[in-house]
Amino acid sequence: MDTVLHYSDQFVFDTLYAKIWPSHTAVSNATGAIISSWPRDDFWRINLSVFAITCIFGWVLYLLTASLSYYLVFDHDYMKHPKFLKNQIKMEIECAVSAIPWMTLLTLPLFTGEVLGKSMLYGGVPKTLYDWLYLVMSVPSFLFFTDCGIYWFHRWMHHPKVYKFLHKLHHKWVIPTPFASHAFNPFDGFIQSLPYHIYAYMVPMHKYLYLSMFVFVNFWTVMIHDGEFISHSTIINTSAHHFIHHVYFNYNYGQYFTLWDILGNSHRQPNEEQYDKAIRDDHKVMARQAHEASEIEGSLAKTKTL
Ligand SMILES: [Zn+2]
Ligand SMILES: [Zn+2]
Repeated sequence: MDTVLHYSDQFVFDTLYAKIWPSHTAVSNATGAIISSWPRDDFWRINLSVFAITCIFGWVLYLLTASLSYYLVFDHDYMKHPKFLKNQIKMEIECAVSAIPWMTLLTLPLFTGEVLGKSMLYGGVPKTLYDWLYLVMSVPSFLFFTDCGIYWFHRWMHHPKVYKFLHKLHHKWVIPTPFASHAFNPFDGFIQSLPYHIYAYMVPMHKYLYLSMFVFVNFWTVMIHDGEFISHSTIINTSAHHFIHHVYFNYNYGQYFTLWDILGNSHRQPNEEQYDKAIRDDHKVMARQAHEASEIEGSLAKTKTL
């Protein structure tokens, strides 16, 4: 993030802040251009710039990835499902686009801390074989740690006393589309992103790898909502597993793997109803799924979670 901020300062913010606050300008020694006199290392400038970068990057990444997934991957026959809401895509996009700035604001102290060198992120080119091995092993280590964290935070948010305050909004989409991927209550999105930041503050990780993993995580979040069930894996938490989470509620809380669901006794393997397109598009199958989902919603209402 510090590298992104450096180039954003150079090409955008120095000039932009000079235009927004024309009374606070200076002349660049290097180029002779008019730039902001607000110091780049000022704490509040860093916060404002990091907020703008993260929010705009979040919007672009979400809209681009979800649109590509929606048009190229998503099974549009799912829009005939009785549980697919009227105007659902518009509602999902509105929900996600309005949540991203609030999620960014909640996460801002952690992002800023990473820019200011308070985390365990490191830079530089790996020199020894050990450095390279550590870099490569950071990937499974990061995935394992964050998968565990997300599983337990997600499962906690399904607790009857917590659910309606934090996580209910994401389950409005019983038949999710890729646009549901970031359609959360902002506090829900923030809590589910905490394992990534906890890792960065606890375990040394190369900053470029961390940035790459952050982008990957956003891709993955879209992919598990894409409704196209290519993989029959029992190890990877695929979009078929996450589809089951949305319809049947108390299963498959994981993010990348099924490990914690298997250990936590919440794993439910998808079957031909998800994998076989002829069966999954059958209106009788959809009607039964809708009935079962409504029964679950009814039983949750009785426990006053809805
Ligand atoms: Zn959930
Ligand atoms: Zn979801």
